[in-house]
Amino acid sequence: MVECLHCGQMFDPEELPDSPEIQVGLLLARERFNDEGQVCAECLTSRGRLAMMYDCQFRR
Ligand SMILES: [Zn+2]
Repeated sequence: MVECLHCGQMFDPEELPDSPEIQVGLLLARERFNDEGQVCAECLTSRGRLAMMYDCQFRR
């Protein structure tokens, strides 16, 4: 288990749900924030959702 960098919640980075928000969140963690594996599913979801709303790179 890992402690989330953002909210401090304990989570398992191998057990992230497979949702589009999380996929975008993971991509950002890898390419922009450099914190992949240290952010929980909830924080990845909100990061991914915000990116899809405001970042034209991820808009569909
Ligand atoms: Zn978190």
